[in-house]
Amino acid sequence: MRLLRQFVTRYPWQSVLLILILLAAGIADGLGLSALLPMLNLAFDSGGSAPAGGALPEGGETPDDDFSRQVTRVLGALGLSPTLGTLLTVIVLGISIKRVFIFIAEQRIGYIAADVATELRVSMLAALTRSRWSHFVGQSTGRLANAMATEAWRASNAYVFAIKLLVLVVELGVYGVLAVLVSWQATLITIGASLVIIVLSHGFVRLARKAGKGQTRWYASLLRTLTDLLGSVKSLKAMGRERQAEALLKHETHALRRELKREVLGNAALDGAQEPLQTLVLGIGIYVAIARLGMDISTVTFLVLILARLLSQAGKVQKQYQKMIACESAYWSLVGVIEEARAAEEPMGPVGTARIELRDAIRLENVTLAYGEEPVLKDLSLAIPAGQMTCLVGESGTGKSTIADLIIGLTRPQSGRVTVDGAAIGELDLRAWRRAIGYVPQDNLLLHETVLRNVALADDSITREAVSAALARAGALEFVLAMPGGLDADVGEGGARLSGGQRQRILIARALVHEPRLLILDEATSALDATTEQALCAMLESLRGSMTILAITHQQALRALADRIYRVERGGITLLPTGGD
Ligand code: ADP
Repeated sequence: MRLLRQFVTRYPWQSVLLILILLAAGIADGLGLSALLPMLNLAFDSGGSAPAGGALPEGGETPDDDFSRQVTRVLGALGLSPTLGTLLTVIVLGISIKRVFIFIAEQRIGYIAADVATELRVSMLAALTRSRWSHFVGQSTGRLANAMATEAWRASNAYVFAIKLLVLVVELGVYGVLAVLVSWQATLITIGASLVIIVLSHGFVRLARKAGKGQTRWYASLLRTLTDLLGSVKSLKAMGRERQAEALLKHETHALRRELKREVLGNAALDGAQEPLQTLVLGIGIYVAIARLGMDISTVTFLVLILARLLSQAGKVQKQYQKMIACESAYWSLVGVIEEARAAEEPMGPVGTARIELRDAIRLENVTLAYGEEPVLKDLSLAIPAGQMTCLVGESGTGKSTIADLIIGLTRPQSGRVTVDGAAIGELDLRAWRRAIGYVPQDNLLLHETVLRNVALADDSITREAVSAALARAGALEFVLAMPGGLDADVGEGGARLSGGQRQRILIARALVHEPRLLILDEATSALDATTEQALCAMLESLRGSMTILAITHQQALRALADRIYRVERGGITLLPTGGD
């Protein structure tokens, strides 16, 4: 029920509209069915052979029950005589109109369900990309892919089931009202019996809830392991150990199968339990009505029709509830991912600062930073002068990428300051600062997209000409134009259709395309051959003065270009002499 409340508060006007449509459907249904008892009276009173135009007895021969009399009066007020034809028309019209409303409602439900899934996906992506870096790196790609695909889909199904539950509850209400009008005692007994059936079969509903929770857990785990495995499939194949993939996934696939079976069992058992219990209640009811209470046959037939619907409707409500809660855990799991990410939202500083030009220097002043107990950087100070090229060298694991992360503002120091032209990073508009950065990462994975989209990242303000110019500066235009499709050539999964060096050049073009003030190369040139490295050095040479360059590198060629070189070591940093010194 918490889920239904959540949906109604999240989508208030859509929910109100749906409830109104459903009420209209319920009223049409009720009006149609209300003609049923007078029609049965007519049929039975004339010995089952009423002529099509035959009317209900009038005057001295009034109908046997209050309900039929009321219906006859209402029809009379509308200028209609209660003939078999009229009554049948009312029934058929009522049910047809109800179906039209239900059709409109179901169509709307489908549309809203698509909106629910889309909104959840978009919110998740937005919350994750806005979360702190430390939060983001703690997430598993497979887990997130699962939330994006399976959980969003199951969550929108939970919404569909929740609203269909409302449809059934409205219908249940209509049958309840009609039944009360004919015999409140019989209705009360039926409601009591329905509650007993619901309580008796609730165990199967709980089974489905548990199975749903299990599925949510195991889907997430399966996708997490699968993504890790697919990432290392090449080494598994190379060593002839691909069969281990099945073994590694076995636990998750088996657990998931068990939960899926549990859900099927819960659904089938609920179906199986409901029908015999409902029939038993009806059988006893008919016996008591005819043999003990001596009710007339038309009233009993109407009651049976209405009460059987009431009973089966209560059963359907329970079944729909079961379906909803089997999917519910996926919704909460996804909402959990979104809320955790929102709680870890990155502080972006004051908004609206003008473009950051970087005219003086970036400085780290007595910075200390630890991921765990032991600090990676301790009381470290350095300066990166604007318009120059600075290199960070040193063994791996000494904290060079961490220094770049501090400068980008992805990581904050535990003590000390990181400043850009004298202003602490925390006081800058972080978005504006980052837009002034071109970053080329160590891993050279591209998006499975065209070259154009890999460089422009779907930013409409970046023209094809700008992309070509950036590719030319990165030394990539020649090979891109030689590919079939040129700028529109697909680079394959992760950029698999290109060599490591080509991928890196495309990433350099991506970093240059928005004219950054600071270019950061994080071990970005290691996959380049000697010729391309030379071309890149010439490009960096030409950029020197117009932008600031920070290169984390082992390459001698880049070191030779540097205006300033820092050797980063565990526990310290030293300024090395440069070629020009
Ligand atoms: P380098 O770039 O010099 O190879 P890094 O800056 O990547 O070194 O890492 C420095 C140390 O900090 C390493 O020991 C690494 O394991 C650790 N480290 C880096 N990032 C994280 C992180 N997000 N969480 C925990 N430890 C980290």
